[in-house]
Amino acid sequence: MRIACPYCGERSLDEFVYSGDATVKRPDAASPTAMEDFVRYSFERTNPPGMHRELWYHAAGCHAWLVVTRGVATHAITSVEVARDVARADAAPAKDPA
Ligand SMILES: [Zn+2]
Repeated sequence: MRIACPYCGERSLDEFVYSGDATVKRPDAASPTAMEDFVRYSFERTNPPGMHRELWYHAAGCHAWLVVTRGVATHAITSVEVARDVARADAAPAKDPA
C-alpha cells in the first residue's frame, strides 16, 4: 500500500504509522457522564466493512498527521487530507444556507 502525502507525494506505507479511527471525538472531561464516555471512547469501537476514515502519521517523512479514507477490504485510498485542515473545517461554524 502507498499513501500520497499532501506534502511529500506518494510514499511507501513503511513511512507511516497508523493511529486509529479518525471519526471518534474525545469526550468532554467535565461532563457528568465523562467516565462512561471515556470507556466507550477507549474500548467500544465498531469495525464495519467499507470505507474508513483513519488517522495516519508520516513518521519517516514530514511528520504530518493525515486523515486517510481507505477501503478496509481493498486498501483502496480515495482521499488523503491534512488532519489539521479537517479539524478546522469540523470546528468552523455551519454556513447559513441562504
Ligand atoms: Zn509527508
